[in-house]
Amino acid sequence: MSLIAVGTMAFDAIETPFGKIDKIVGGSATYVAYAASHLIKPIKQISIVGDDFPEEEMADLKSRGVDLEGVEIVKGKKSFFWSGKYHLDMNTRDTLITDLNVLADFNPKIPDSYQDVEFLMLGNLMPEIQIRVINQMKKRPKLIVLDTMNFWMESALDDLKKVLQMIDVLMINDSEARFLSNEFSLVKAAKKILDMGPKYLIIKKGEHGALLFHGNHVFFAPALPLEEVFDPTGAGDTFAGGFIGHLARTKDISFENMKTAIIVGSAMASFCVEKFGPQRLKEITKADIDTRLEEFVQLVNFDIDLV
Ligand code: AMP
Repeated sequence: MSLIAVGTMAFDAIETPFGKIDKIVGGSATYVAYAASHLIKPIKQISIVGDDFPEEEMADLKSRGVDLEGVEIVKGKKSFFWSGKYHLDMNTRDTLITDLNVLADFNPKIPDSYQDVEFLMLGNLMPEIQIRVINQMKKRPKLIVLDTMNFWMESALDDLKKVLQMIDVLMINDSEARFLSNEFSLVKAAKKILDMGPKYLIIKKGEHGALLFHGNHVFFAPALPLEEVFDPTGAGDTFAGGFIGHLARTKDISFENMKTAIIVGSAMASFCVEKFGPQRLKEITKADIDTRLEEFVQLVNFDIDLV
């Protein structure tokens, strides 16, 4: 049992109210892989990098059970680069630079050894490439989860609408849900977005948790109240890695199990924000994850006598 993770492997430059870093490894698929590898192996990665992407990072990913056969390395070209600056509330950020570099010519090829995988995580990437990946799967995966962002809603809406009809679970944040649906109410937004194709919708609300919508059902999971949030970059992708990693490990795609998967995703994301880049995800152990999951259980556990 394994999962495919598709997305960017990148360099980021990040500025938060607490610090600034000019070059650190990031990318949607990098975060998904680091998070999911705590739950399931192998992770079959699909991405593209330039020859500037650090070999040590590749070796680290490999040592954690990330299969890199589907990662293309382009000689003489640069990896995707993204730069962002967070506002004081850390929930909102401005994208300063998006340099596609190698991503501009990305034409992913799914290795034969990746076929028959039942869980497909389409991390944030051009929607047209997400479509090409789905079309190359000889057998439709049991579950296709897609993450995207405002950048693609603004620059590739038609392709995004096409891919929404091909997937099971869409993950976006609250401002993206409002933008995509043209609705302020997240309940109305969810209805409109579910009508666009996905069977399940997860709306991430940063430090205010996440909502899962499916038909007329709604589930809410809080984010862990943390004393310090150092760098939220990658929290969404880490959430995605935890979410699909749990589903793939348990092979259960019921709404009930998705509730647990959201808690696992939230727990993984709560680690991600504690340090710059994916650093914290590399340090944590199974015991750390279990302790944090227990904190989540305590956070939302209460008795009530019905009146
Ligand atoms: P998140 O904070 O979870 O939204 O993800 C941040 C990561 O997404 C960073 O490491 C970036 O390298 C990557 N990223 C930023 N913009 C894009 C984009 N337009 N497409 C794909 N990946 C991106």
